[in-house]
Amino acid sequence: MGTVEYATLTCHDCGQDTRHELAYAGRLLVVTTCTRCGNRIERDVRDRYLRDLRQRLVSKPSRMLRRFRRHPVGFASSLPRTTVLKPWELLEEIRLVWSAAADARRAERD
Ligand SMILES: [Zn+2]
Repeated sequence: MGTVEYATLTCHDCGQDTRHELAYAGRLLVVTTCTRCGNRIERDVRDRYLRDLRQRLVSKPSRMLRRFRRHPVGFASSLPRTTVLKPWELLEEIRLVWSAAADARRAERD
């Protein structure tokens, strides 16, 4: 799964403000889940995710290069922590986005 955050939102099933789990892929909100009743709202963000991902992949090398020029030693020692897009994290994000999109489409048909 991507990044998970929590927020208090109004749940349509519960009819009141409850704690919700918000699953993000990068900067995009993909799934909202009510932690009280488990009601899920999934969004099809595939197009936006791909655009966003392309930007993240493109902008990262130049950012890293800039930092490398300024502080070569500090940059090298901080690499493991700052490598944002690890392959398995990327796979988890993609899995989250695509499964949410499939569920969102299923819900529309019902
Ligand atoms: Zn609820």
